[in-house]
Amino acid sequence: MPELPEVETIVRSLVPKLKGLQIRSFHILYPPLFREKSPGFIANLRGKKICGVRRRGKMILIDCEGDMSLLVHLKMTGIFLFSSADEPVDKHTHFIISFEYGKRELRFRDVRKFGFVSCIRTAEASSVDELKSLGPEPLEIGLAPFQRLFQGRKARLKSLLLNQKFLAGIGNIYADEILFQARLHPLTPASRMRQAELKRMHEAMKDVLGRAIACQGSTIRDYRNAVGQEGNFQSFHQVYGREGLACTICGRGIRRIRLGGRSTFYCPGCQKEEKTAR
Ligand SMILES: [Zn+2]
Repeated sequence: MPELPEVETIVRSLVPKLKGLQIRSFHILYPPLFREKSPGFIANLRGKKICGVRRRGKMILIDCEGDMSLLVHLKMTGIFLFSSADEPVDKHTHFIISFEYGKRELRFRDVRKFGFVSCIRTAEASSVDELKSLGPEPLEIGLAPFQRLFQGRKARLKSLLLNQKFLAGIGNIYADEILFQARLHPLTPASRMRQAELKRMHEAMKDVLGRAIACQGSTIRDYRNAVGQEGNFQSFHQVYGREGLACTICGRGIRRIRLGGRSTFYCPGCQKEEKTAR
């Protein structure tokens, strides 16, 4: 699933292409994709100009004139592609936005069909169900509020990082990479963390996510940005997907464990588990 760096990369590639374009039509080819809040509201998109594209957590907001925004969650396999209107539409394309001038159109493809789109009022964006429960943005949160987030939390570090209500945008890949860089064991209970360790994690989080954005994200399977480019941060992964390979720091074999039904990768040499931690 695209995480913060991938979604941020997609947003950055969409902004220069979409900003200022006037919507001619909005075709929904796969209706279950569309979560309609107010029936017929989306018809008002016709003729509106796109004012901007932004990210919140792993979600994309396409802001339009007239207090309207499209909220898009890519989930597992959703991608945006600019195509010429002449190109055939394949069976995985679920909605198409066409514009008033030019032949390019924006298509949303989603092979697994877990993604969704809804049309909301821009002014109400922070109060819609999908966004109101999201935690702070990892790239924006300062050290002190970050340290306060962990107070009284009993969950293990990895589970907390994956919890979108705790922090928005981090998924399985970056949680593992952040914990490795901070030299923290993924199973450590949050309440056991010292302030200095949280400071290390805060720094690692900003650094890993920042470097991943600079590399345009990680391409594991399907991810592409809106102009079809892959990311290349996967070449810099230290633990994720590297089970059995030697740690680049200490040489020990990277381990994989199951946590909450998902794989967690860590280095048993660099990320020591406290004896009392389990
Ligand atoms: Zn190591």
